[in-house]
Amino acid sequence: MDYQKVLDTIHEELSHRDVYGKVASYIPELAKVDPKKFGMHLYKGKGEHYSFGDSIEKFSIQSISKVFTLSMAMQLLGEDLWDRVDVEPSGDPFNSLTQLEYEKGIPRNPFINAGALVICDILVSNLDDPKKDLLEFVRKICDNDSIEYDHKIAASEKSTGYRNYALVNYMKALGNIKNEVEPIVDFYFHQCSLAMSCEELAKAFMIFANNGKMLETGEKILSKTKVKRINALMQTCGFYDEAGEFSFEVGLPGKSGVGGGIVAIHPAQYSVAVWSPILNEKGNSELGMAALEKLTTMTGLSIF
Ligand code: GLU
Repeated sequence: MDYQKVLDTIHEELSHRDVYGKVASYIPELAKVDPKKFGMHLYKGKGEHYSFGDSIEKFSIQSISKVFTLSMAMQLLGEDLWDRVDVEPSGDPFNSLTQLEYEKGIPRNPFINAGALVICDILVSNLDDPKKDLLEFVRKICDNDSIEYDHKIAASEKSTGYRNYALVNYMKALGNIKNEVEPIVDFYFHQCSLAMSCEELAKAFMIFANNGKMLETGEKILSKTKVKRINALMQTCGFYDEAGEFSFEVGLPGKSGVGGGIVAIHPAQYSVAVWSPILNEKGNSELGMAALEKLTTMTGLSIF
């Protein structure tokens, strides 16, 4: 299969398409991003990768970071993790508070904000310096020491992050938060501010397409069972309240972020990241979803 030709065709067909959504603006710094950015990067195997457009430009990965923190929490707690967070799709927006009351403070899954904040609480409890350890984890699986937090984005989100403060306070009142609120939200705002390119994201996510092993060195980062669980969660909960539509259109496990990035994997085949900052009404990148739909249709390689 000529993957570069497939990517070039996607680029050609989509770069002039009209888009109707908006760049995320509830985090003031994100509103400054050039809406025309568009890039894609696909990792197929050792040294085999393909790309187009702004694929090496770093952007704010936002919720995509929840896959990294979930991986770390699973390494630390194993199956005990599921006492603190459930594994069901929510069907509600990512920042919703509504289900927490009747779920007794147990978030529906680790990829909605409530769930990701419980994961932050777990990492704050178990690690001396979670921000340093997260950076080390991501740098390692990406084999790239240049990855950094964007402190301006983190500060910008903190200045308007009332819903995330509310979520932590509410879950603390319901007994599912063990630490003080401030270190949890500080860690959360930093994890969301991680700046990475499509190339870096696709490389990092190869561990989920390669049974938990790093592609280049073969080093094992996660067990097969953990990777199975993470991929299942990406499939069912990775796209806000549009996970069904993403499965229907694209047919891959993946995770999106309000910075306009989407990463998806095909187990044992490839890992792919796409970035276009204009979001649809559910918060997923409009062109990103369209590009991935074209990828799986043209290659015939979805998981279904
Ligand atoms: N930092 C964002 C928030 O909590 C992440 C949202 C996302 O990418 O889904 O609102």
